[in-house]
Amino acid sequence: MYSCANCGLKGCSEGDLDKTLPNCPSKEKNIQEEAKKLYLEEENQKIAHNAAIVEAEGYGVKTRVEEIISFAKKCEYKRIGLVFCMGLINEAKCFADILKHHGFDIISVLCKNGGIEKSYIGIKDEEKILDECDEVMCNPIGQALLLNEQNTDFNVILGLCVGHDTLAMKYLKAPMTTLAVKDRVTGHDPLVAIYLANGYYKKKLF
Ligand code: SF4
Repeated sequence: MYSCANCGLKGCSEGDLDKTLPNCPSKEKNIQEEAKKLYLEEENQKIAHNAAIVEAEGYGVKTRVEEIISFAKKCEYKRIGLVFCMGLINEAKCFADILKHHGFDIISVLCKNGGIEKSYIGIKDEEKILDECDEVMCNPIGQALLLNEQNTDFNVILGLCVGHDTLAMKYLKAPMTTLAVKDRVTGHDPLVAIYLANGYYKKKLF
């Protein structure tokens, strides 16, 4: 069992494998060799290389929106799929407009595509957000299949709920990244809960 989250040494970040925990994953020679070999595959090398360049160029300067644009340009992606939540439709439109301005073709699919009722997956009235009414389920598998069929080069996820993003990521075929995740309470900034975990949110989280 690895426990990097509790490591105070972090020798890996300095290339010093003497400063590690006994259960350090850096010591897993076979797996590390396998990972290194995979970086040499053409697509992986392109992604890893461009990610490193984007990180260095934008470090503390560029926003994530700018970094996504920069990364997509460097990777020469042309058709970008935008997988988004209805609650962020204004943000999705603005983001799509920005990407179009930068020369990309955008194919966007909303979470409620298909209009499938929640009863289809066995959700009872009392398990709905609003009791006793027809509620349409989010359809992340549909989002993924539609974008796969459109042969997107790259996909961006914007504001999907926990679990819905799990299915979108499971079925999307092209490489993907996330612009933002859904957190209805914190204005889509889930780390707020972490920053407050030992303060105002202590009773809520521990
Ligand atoms: S990889 Fe090893 S050195 Fe790095 S954080 Fe994990 S345990 Fe610590």
